[in-house]
Amino acid sequence: MKKLLVSLLSLATLQLSAQTYEYKVDLNKTTNDQLSVELKVPTLKQKNLYFHLPAMVPGTYSVYNFGRFVSDFKAFDQEGAELSVEHPDVNTWKIINAKTAAKITYKVDDTWDTDKGNVIFEPAGTNIDKDVFVFNNHGIFGYFKKYEKLPYKIEVDRPEGFFGGTGMKRTGGDADTDIFETDSYNSLVDNPILFSAPDTAMFQIGETSILIQTYSPTGRVKSKDLTADIKPILEAQREYLGGKLPVDHYVFLLFLNKEGGMYLSGSAGALEHSYSSFYCLFEGEAAGISQTIRDVAAHEFFHIVTPLNIHSKEIHDFDFIKPEMSKHLWLYEGGTEYAAQHVQVKQQLIPVQQFFAAMGQKIRQAEGFKKDLSFTEMSKTCLDENKSEYSNVYLKGALINMCLDMELRKLSKGTYGTQNLMNDLSKKYGINKPFKDKCLFKEIGKITGYKKEMKAFFANYVAGIEALPIERLMKDFGVDYKEKGTISELSIFGFNINSGVTFNFEKKLIELKPNGIDPFGKDILGLKGGDLLYKWQGKELTMQTLDPILGQYQMSAKKGLDLSITVLRKNAAGKYEEKELKGALRKVPIEVEHVLLLNDKASPEQVSLRKAWLGDYLSE
Ligand SMILES: [Zn+2]
Repeated sequence: MKKLLVSLLSLATLQLSAQTYEYKVDLNKTTNDQLSVELKVPTLKQKNLYFHLPAMVPGTYSVYNFGRFVSDFKAFDQEGAELSVEHPDVNTWKIINAKTAAKITYKVDDTWDTDKGNVIFEPAGTNIDKDVFVFNNHGIFGYFKKYEKLPYKIEVDRPEGFFGGTGMKRTGGDADTDIFETDSYNSLVDNPILFSAPDTAMFQIGETSILIQTYSPTGRVKSKDLTADIKPILEAQREYLGGKLPVDHYVFLLFLNKEGGMYLSGSAGALEHSYSSFYCLFEGEAAGISQTIRDVAAHEFFHIVTPLNIHSKEIHDFDFIKPEMSKHLWLYEGGTEYAAQHVQVKQQLIPVQQFFAAMGQKIRQAEGFKKDLSFTEMSKTCLDENKSEYSNVYLKGALINMCLDMELRKLSKGTYGTQNLMNDLSKKYGINKPFKDKCLFKEIGKITGYKKEMKAFFANYVAGIEALPIERLMKDFGVDYKEKGTISELSIFGFNINSGVTFNFEKKLIELKPNGIDPFGKDILGLKGGDLLYKWQGKELTMQTLDPILGQYQMSAKKGLDLSITVLRKNAAGKYEEKELKGALRKVPIEVEHVLLLNDKASPEQVSLRKAWLGDYLSE
């Protein structure tokens, strides 16, 4: 009996190991940001094998063609003889007479500094450098067509003293090697790895263990400092989600670029996964980058609700080569963004005025997008003809969810909102149980019990192009909506950076319009119309440095920060002279469009609905 059992067991182990992708890379042996990849081919017994790197990966909503970064692709049989390989398209390699295939080797370039065009959003790309390696695994490892569901074993030789942070299981290795194992290509893609000198922090949120790993090139920002930003928001999110998080572990992987540095794609940001999220942000004073980290971390972390736990078939059976889009980006991105803002006011991390300011800004920014395009249609077509409309998911997408939340609260007399809805949807569906794309609206009607009202809501505002009923809803909640109004807001620049400037072609500098300067710029800094922006916080503004300098400054701007601007101003003789202007950032009355203000004279019914919606909020 025992013998039989042993032989059965060894047979099973043998089959398992033969049916596994076994990859090997060595971080010590890179040349020109290129990494050599070796794959022991699983036993597939196919005449021809098609090897793929993805065209697109989940969460990016953009076709990137990762095969572009592969070169020198070779396949060998057991004796080491080379097999013939065709390369029919950018993401495919066809191995001819593959029955004897034993090994594949190729090189990959990193995507972070490339001259290839169609630049990959860095949190989804790869970085091969001396002291840091970013593995978004779909940019390094591939799969054979129809065999995406086989397990993976990844062996990485790395410099001793490096740490490979990931949500994936480390199943072996030693001082200078890591072995990671995971059960499918999907899961490999879902688990990026950051290799760098270790700077980590760990803590518990309820039953969930959290790891933060930070790469900060100058060492200015430490994981333990970021814990102070991330921990409170996670505590708040746990409360918001009903006291329990849907994951047992979670990893924050942060790559911080030097201040004044740049990301090739032009954007900073992050990408979500089931057990981790990857951030590409900038170094700065820990206190200065707090709100950015909080906002972005809250957004990415909430993705564990949707799309990771609530998603349609299109996302569940993700086709890496020919992805089908779901029509529910209003939920995946819009719902996540709304929850990330809503949790902060509801759990008293920010005052209610800051929440309204954020929503008002979304209304203003959403104005710049197509009004005659429904959100479901945009969602379906955001890879091609409506690519430029995608960013509206964070704006109108969030506003749709705000209106849905208010509509539900109103219908239920305050007892039911989007928080409850997400909870109910997570229970009904889940990580392994997708919904049907075309049935979701009906399903929400059934779950909430407001069939007629939900049908109308989605038909009008999500599948239709009717303007969102923000003004009408706000009124019921004791909030005044004004088309134009004055709000007290932190002036970041001292002028309106969108409409208050023009370009001086002769000097190649930004010129301030006389009517674009706000009270902070005018009274505190002393800016004047016609001033040319020459230096910002001591750094020279050129066509190349303008975006990164002002963008990073904006991210770290907060009340009390000392701002120094050097302008070129014409003197009496008409010659430009340098003039340095200084002041500490403060709130000033600023006139804006789409203002949301608490109504002090709201009725008890309105106040009670407002409290049901926003909780026991803080007020300034
Ligand atoms: Zn997102």
